[in-house]
Formats: sequence, structure tokens, C-alpha cells
Amino acid sequence: MRVAVLSDVHSNLGALEAVLAEIDAGGFAELWFLGDLVGYGPKPNECVALLQERATICLAGNHDLVVLGKIEIDAFAGEAAAAARWTQTVLDDTARSFLDTLQPQAVAPGAELFHGSPRDPVWDYVLDDEAAFWSFAATSEPLVLVGHSHHALEISNGENLRGGPAAAGTTLELGPLRRLLNPGSVGQPRHGDPRAAWLEIDFGAARATFRRTNYPVERTQAEMREVGLPEALELRLAFGI
Ligand code: ZN
Repeated sequence: MRVAVLSDVHSNLGALEAVLAEIDAGGFAELWFLGDLVGYGPKPNECVALLQERATICLAGNHDLVVLGKIEIDAFAGEAAAAARWTQTVLDDTARSFLDTLQPQAVAPGAELFHGSPRDPVWDYVLDDEAAFWSFAATSEPLVLVGHSHHALEISNGENLRGGPAAAGTTLELGPLRRLLNPGSVGQPRHGDPRAAWLEIDFGAARATFRRTNYPVERTQAEMREVGLPEALELRLAFGI
């Protein structure tokens, strides 16, 4: 079974559509989404509708929970708070109802999924060995999949922890070591590459590949200007930072 693992779309419809086109062309059996459907970007309702239709597993992220009012908006500073407030004003009932059903963690055959980490599925960032160590200790499936940091990452758990940032095109042979993988972000990548980041897992071939997909960044930026989202959020998309 081949699975496309996506995370952190953040209302970037152009990026999501481009990745879905590749998924459609690639014959994937399932789409697993690791949370943050909304926040930052200009098209929340459209992104929620597409993910509701396409994702076999769909997690909630911290931004989704803030927009729903389940977490106080004060948890965010500056631009994130401004974008969350704007999203609250435009989110339709259908999207709100679907987001309301989502949890920040899930289990699938061979994998445990979290928006943040097993320690704190909503807020914890797995960016270093210490957080990875606790993530392996708190889980038992061969794969631990996390989002939230917007950084593509692969860490394996053998005698020592090994790994780090995962460059575009990185392919890993899975097993016998357990792996912690972060696909990176579809809608607001932060590793210095503006392309939408996602992860392909081929369970049959025991292989995972870090993918990047071009999308019309200028279109998303124009949509952000149109609705008055903070300029810094728009500018960073061109650089993937
Ligand atoms: Zn995010």
C-alpha cells in the first residue's frame, strides 16, 4: 500500500491542489494528514473541504484548535493570531463542523500519528534527539509520524538515534529500525525551499521518499493580499522560511 503523508496545509489552496494532482497521478491508496488545515493562509474553507473529501486519516493541529476556540487565541503571537482571527470570521459551518470532529493523534497499521509529538500531540515540536527519544519511548509502532514544525525530518532509532533534516528526494529503506518522520509542510514550508513538502510511504516496498512539489506561490500571495492577511506571512512563502 502506498500512502501520501501531508501536514500543515494552512489554507494554502494552490499548494494543496498541486500536491493532490501528483497524488492522483501516482496511484496512492490513502492520504494521511497530520494537522493544521487552516491558519496563516487565504482559503480555509476550500482546504478543509478538500481534505475532508480526500484524507483517510485527518488530525487536528494547534491552529485548527485555536480557530475553533478550543485553545485561547492568546497562545499565538502577532501574525499567527491575526491570521487565526481572520480565519474565524470566514470559516463556514461545514468546515467548522468537520474540524470539530478531529483529534491531534491517531493510530494506523504500522504507524502512530501526531500533530506535535507523543509527549504533547498539540504543541510539542520534534526538532532534536531529545524530543525524538521521548517520542520513540512513548510509542511502539515501527513508524512515528509528526508534523507541526514545518521541517522535513527523519530520525532512526537503533543503538543510537541517527538522522536529521530530510532533503528533497531523500529515500529511506524502512525496517528493521523504527523511524520518526516529518513530511514537512505543504502550505508554509520553512526549510528554505518554497516548494510544497510531503512524504510518500510505500509499505509494500518498505520505502519512504521525501517529495517536493512546485505550486503557483504568486497566486497564493495575491489571494493573501486580497483578504488583508499580514504581509510577512505572504513574503515568507517565496523563500520557504
Ligand atoms: Zn503548522
